[in-house]
Amino acid sequence: MIRDHFRTLVVDLASGRGSIADLEGRDTVAGGSGLAAMLFNRYGHVGKPWDDPEQPLIFTIGPLTGYFPLMSKTVCAFKSPYHDQYAESHGGGRSALALRFADLDALVITGKAAEPSLLSIGSRHLELKGVPYLWGMDVFATGKYLRRHVKGAGHRSILRIGPAGERHSPMACINVDTYRHFGRLGGGAVMGAKNLKAIAIQGDATFLLPENKAYPELFQEVYRQLTATDMMSKYHNVGTSINVAPLNAMQALPCRNLQQTSDPNIEGITGERFADETLLRNGACSGCPVGCIHIGFVREKFEAENRYLYRQVSYDHELIFATGSMLGVTNAFQVLTLIDMCERMGLDVMSAGVALAWATEAFEKGVITEKETLAPLKMGAADTYKQAVLNLGTGVNDFYRLLGQGTMRAAAHYGGADFACVLGQEMAGYATGEVFFISQALGLRHSHLDAGGYAYDQKTEDKNVEKAVDFLDKDEQGRVFLTSMVACLFARGVYSDEMLSRCLHAVGYDALADNIGAAARQIQKLRWRTRVATGFNPREVAIPKRFTEITTWKGPVDPDYLQALKNAYAERILELATGDPG
Ligand code: SF4
Repeated sequence: MIRDHFRTLVVDLASGRGSIADLEGRDTVAGGSGLAAMLFNRYGHVGKPWDDPEQPLIFTIGPLTGYFPLMSKTVCAFKSPYHDQYAESHGGGRSALALRFADLDALVITGKAAEPSLLSIGSRHLELKGVPYLWGMDVFATGKYLRRHVKGAGHRSILRIGPAGERHSPMACINVDTYRHFGRLGGGAVMGAKNLKAIAIQGDATFLLPENKAYPELFQEVYRQLTATDMMSKYHNVGTSINVAPLNAMQALPCRNLQQTSDPNIEGITGERFADETLLRNGACSGCPVGCIHIGFVREKFEAENRYLYRQVSYDHELIFATGSMLGVTNAFQVLTLIDMCERMGLDVMSAGVALAWATEAFEKGVITEKETLAPLKMGAADTYKQAVLNLGTGVNDFYRLLGQGTMRAAAHYGGADFACVLGQEMAGYATGEVFFISQALGLRHSHLDAGGYAYDQKTEDKNVEKAVDFLDKDEQGRVFLTSMVACLFARGVYSDEMLSRCLHAVGYDALADNIGAAARQIQKLRWRTRVATGFNPREVAIPKRFTEITTWKGPVDPDYLQALKNAYAERILELATGDPG
C-alpha cells in the first residue's frame, strides 16, 4: 500500500521524454520541503545560473497527502531569479491531490522546450505539446483555454504563467487552479525560462487507504478538530483578513510604504468590510474541509446602459496589505481591482504591491519622475496603480522592467534603498517589530511563514536576543517538518508532533513516526546547507533604514536590538548549514 521510496517523474523538456526514478530517503527527508531539497541536491547545479536549462523545477508532496485533511500543499523548489539561490515556494489548489492520484511523490522538470509548451502528465501518460498561440496571453485567458482543452475536470490541476513569467520577472508567480499560487521568489520566471506556459497534472489513478481500524478513527478525530472546534473558524469565517483591523489598531500594519503603521481610514478594507460587501463564496484546496479561500467580485461597466461584466477575485490579509494599506488604497473594491490586475499579469501580488509602494515614495521624493513611472503615482490613486500593475507585468519600459526584477535592484539604480521595504524579498504584512523583521529577512523562504516572528513580537516585550533566536530556530524546525508533510500551516494547531506521529503510524510510516524530532532537525539543516551552497550569506543581509524609522505597539524600533538579533540569527543559520548534518 504505502511505498518506502519516492516515486519521482523526471521530465526533460528538450526531448519531451520522462522517466520514473524510485529514490530512497523517506525516513530521513520525509517528503515536501525535505524531499525538494534532496532532489535539488541530486538534479540541481549550485554553480550554474537559475535560468540554465539544466536547472530543475521541482514539485513534491508528502507521505500523508490524500490520507488526512489539509495535507493539501505542494512544495515547489528551484534556483530563484530573485537571488540566484535555492528557493522554495508553497501552493495548494488541486496540485497536491492531483500528484497523489497520478501516483507520484515528486515531479522534476529539467531542460528547455523548443517552443512555448504545455506539459501534461498523469499516472500513465506524458505529453509535451507546443502552444505558441498561448504565449503572450494573460493568466485568465490561458486558464479559460486550458480548462476547455485539457481533459479531466475535477481531477486535474492546471499550473500556468502570465506575461510576467514569460519575461522572466523574479516577481512572476505560478498560478495554480486560479485561486492559489506558488507566489514568491519567481517560480513563474523559471517556467518562462523553460518555455513552459503551463503544466496539467491529471490525477487519473486511484490509491488504497489503510485497512487498519486505527486509520478511520484517527481521520475522524482530526476531521472533528478541524471542523467542529473553533481552532480553524478564523480561517473559515472572515479569513486571514480578520488580521487587518487588529494589526492596524496595535500599530503593526505596514501602511503607505511603511511610512506609517496604522491608517485612520482602515475601515474601508478590513476583513469584515470585505466579507460584508464583496464576498461571494469560499473556496478550498482539495482535501481541505476548512475553505479559507475568500472570493469576492469586481465589476466593470462596458456599456452606458448599465451593462457590467464581473470577475471573481480571491483575497486575504497579505493581498489586502500589499495593494491596500501599503498603497493608501482604502476601498475594498479598488483593492480587488488591483489584485485582479496582478493575477492577470501573473505577478506575485505581495511583491508587486510593495514594489509600487516604494515607487510611489520615490516619485514623491523626486528620486524618479513621470518619465519612469509614466503616470503620477500617488498614494490612494487606484486607477493609476491599475495601469502601473499592467506596466509592471508587461515590462513596458526600462523602469518597470527593472522594478520587476525586485525593488532593491530598482533602488540600486535610481536611489531610494533606505525606504525599500525589502526583507530578503518584498515584505509581508506585519510591522510587529524586530523579531519579525529578522525572521523574514533571514528566513529561508523570506516568508512570514518561515517562523512565527510576527507572533513572538506580539507576545514578547523583552529584548533577549538568545531567547528570540532560540524561538526562531525551534519554530522553524517544527514548521519545516509540517511542510515536509505538506500540511497547510493554518492547521499547525491540530498537527502537533504527537498527532503527526499518530498519523504516520496509521498510514504505515513507523520509522519516520518514531523519529520526528531528529528528522525535522536533519531536514532543517539540509535546507540551509542547500541555500548556503547556492550563495546565501546571512551575515551580508542588510535591513533597510525604513525598518528602524517606525514605531510599533512596542514603541520605536530599536536598531541595536535589530542588529544584535540579525548577527545572532545569522550565526545560528550558519551553524545549521555547516555543522554536523545530523
Ligand atoms: S486552510 Fe485554506 S490554504 Fe489551507 S488547505 Fe484549506 S483552503 Fe487551502
